[in-house]
Amino acid sequence: MEKKTNILLIYTGGTIGMVKEYSTGALKAFNFKELIGNLPELDQLECRLNGVSFENPIDSSNMNPKHWMTMAKIIQDNYSNYDGFVVLHGSDTMSYSASALSFMLENLTKPVIFTGSQLPIGDLRTDAKENLITSIQISALRENGNPVIQEVGLYFEYKLYRANRTTKLNAEHFEAFASLNYPPLVESGVHLKINRSNLLKPPPGKTTVRVSMAMDTQIAVLRLFPGLNVRVLNTILQTTGLKVLILETYGAGNAPTDDWFLKALRKSINEGLQIINVTQCPGGSVSMGQYETSQKLRALQVIDGKDITVEAAITKAMYLLGKSNTMGKFKELFETSLRGEMHQN
Ligand code: ASP
Repeated sequence: MEKKTNILLIYTGGTIGMVKEYSTGALKAFNFKELIGNLPELDQLECRLNGVSFENPIDSSNMNPKHWMTMAKIIQDNYSNYDGFVVLHGSDTMSYSASALSFMLENLTKPVIFTGSQLPIGDLRTDAKENLITSIQISALRENGNPVIQEVGLYFEYKLYRANRTTKLNAEHFEAFASLNYPPLVESGVHLKINRSNLLKPPPGKTTVRVSMAMDTQIAVLRLFPGLNVRVLNTILQTTGLKVLILETYGAGNAPTDDWFLKALRKSINEGLQIINVTQCPGGSVSMGQYETSQKLRALQVIDGKDITVEAAITKAMYLLGKSNTMGKFKELFETSLRGEMHQN
């Protein structure tokens, strides 16, 4: 059969492309060409593969928005020459990067699939091969001349998830990621089961991909805990230049009703700070007003994070702050699902 689909592999770093130095046990970055050369199985795929690599592949704990821009630029520059993109990335911050790219790539109509592994590709029991091979297969799926996946996904351990719904939940298991508030897009068993009704449709009429490069990082995340100190809260709220505070609240979006706490939030909101209510529960949604402990936040016009993940909330806020036309509309835009990252009422 003619090899028709062109897929670009983008190696950013992480365990998937590492080899273990058996004398010391340390992991070292592997040559990307060797990585591909080591996988003769790839020849059986009905697609043409090319690869590019970060000049200096990194452990994903060193990831920052500049690296996201590099990835977005690679995708933009190669967009018309490829049918799909597979990004090889360390698992530690993969949900952040993949969420970021889901916002930065506007009007996406081709698959961008992030994957990685818990064990290096050369390891006897590696999960890297299956993750890589199936990610490529999924990115090459086409129907009536169009890609089946037209969004940013994250593939790990037999499941493709919507990237901006994922969180790394386990540091050891092969099943490292979860998407507790949205079902998988594709499940890999004997067959690839595509859950069509879960897929994101590209915005109608918009066919040209656009990349929004500006990511504004004037953001803080505060996870509430019983015993939070007023001085710590005030120090964070008074950070020079801070534009957004993501408040990781309890349960369905609840927070203390102490005067000092609410007063501090009110003052900052009046001074222009955007405060977003995101639950610290890995699953479920904020429901402001359900309890008295969240009614107060609603009255303060705190932004409703609904069922968004913290990873998606951070990157969505950076993306919205980076755009010049969001002034005065931040709350409205944040509460709107832009890429399927939250439920829409
Ligand atoms: N620390 C590694 C990283 O995130 C772990 C992995 O590759 O999964 O880059």
